[in-house]
Amino acid sequence: MQSYYIETYGCQMNAHDSEKIAGILDTMGLRAAEKEQADIILFNTCCVREHAEKRVFGNLGALQKLKTEKPNLVVAVCGCMMQQTEVRERLYHRFPFVDLIIGTNALHMLPQLLERVFCGERVLFTQGIDDEIAEDLPTKRAPGVAASVSIMHGCNNFCTYCIVPYVRGRERSRQPERIISEIQALAEQGYSEVLLLGQNVNSYGNNLEDMDFSKLLRMVNDIDGIKRIRFMTSHPKDLSSGLIAAMAGLPKICSHLHLPVQSGSTNILKLMNRGYTREEYLALTRELRLALPNIELTTDIIVGFPGETEADFEETLSIIDEVGFSAAFTFMFSPRTGTAAANLPEQVSQATKKNRLQQLNTLQTLQTRKTNERYLGRVEEVLVDGFDQRTKLLYGKLSCFKTVYFPGAFDMIGSYVGVFIEKTHNSSLLGLLEQKVQ
Ligand code: SF4
Repeated sequence: MQSYYIETYGCQMNAHDSEKIAGILDTMGLRAAEKEQADIILFNTCCVREHAEKRVFGNLGALQKLKTEKPNLVVAVCGCMMQQTEVRERLYHRFPFVDLIIGTNALHMLPQLLERVFCGERVLFTQGIDDEIAEDLPTKRAPGVAASVSIMHGCNNFCTYCIVPYVRGRERSRQPERIISEIQALAEQGYSEVLLLGQNVNSYGNNLEDMDFSKLLRMVNDIDGIKRIRFMTSHPKDLSSGLIAAMAGLPKICSHLHLPVQSGSTNILKLMNRGYTREEYLALTRELRLALPNIELTTDIIVGFPGETEADFEETLSIIDEVGFSAAFTFMFSPRTGTAAANLPEQVSQATKKNRLQQLNTLQTLQTRKTNERYLGRVEEVLVDGFDQRTKLLYGKLSCFKTVYFPGAFDMIGSYVGVFIEKTHNSSLLGLLEQKVQ
């Protein structure tokens, strides 16, 4: 029996694609193995950040030695980086030992393409970025009680810094019946938390008749066995009052929303083509907190976007306090070839970007600590994810997405328990088991 190893880069969408790749390979009779032992090594790449591209090229280069030692080793590369013609060509010529290159929309072709590789062919296969995504692919999910389900593919927004619309194509929503039957099957297998995935998840249904994201949430909420519903990534401009009302009225929706603001400055938001102003974003967060008083908001922020002045950056700092984000994923702007922002004037120096990132992270750490302290002395429901070898504690998530560590028995993994929150750390909570919920 042949074996495979998948190395995944990038976001949760890519991680979920890797679950599908693993499902396809298992169905072909292959088994997962460690990298050094595997007969097939597959890199599932991402091109959203410059850093990811450098890592892929570096890690592929490091495979040269293994390939020399094991000439029958098959090296394959897929993922959104392979939808960039220039990068794909560069990779193809620089690493002649790569046997298979495959685009994002062609995963269902993997068995046939691998057969050609096994027959000695070097294969490069991509499809149009707007092609239909194949349904019903076998999926090998990580063990646990939380599962990811992609509900749509692509993005129509063209934020000026982002490569996604160029490599993942326009928005295509999956049919609701298919999503619902996939989640029903997951519930039957014991999954109780579901994460609905899309590049712009709350515009779900734009290309479908009489369907929108609120309706889909109601349908998922009705599925027996599902206790928690999460979704990401939401775009502020598509967060309607109707959707906020639906979230407030559906008991299984988690009290957490990841709502990327990207900048606190309206000037920069305009340059980013985000489609909202600082004031509109703030109004949304107020509306959210009125409708869902316990909601925790997390966000993404880019510092050093071209043209960002000190005054713009100050506005980003102030929005952290004003909204009270419980966490922020912060990045320095890195120009992606092919995007509009790569050619904007007034690029910010690396030193300024670094300095701003540091200031932002310091402020957000304080803010996160503040939001953590709200939980002290409370008993919260935790879905137990696993056991941390370092601390010898169980860990799991609250509905609001905060992570809690607490002492407990292995057999609690996968169940919901009540935990008394005793202490807080910078990014997590520490507690004591109160009761088993189910
Ligand atoms: S919403 Fe903007 S940042 Fe998000 S995937 Fe679409 S273009 Fe990229």
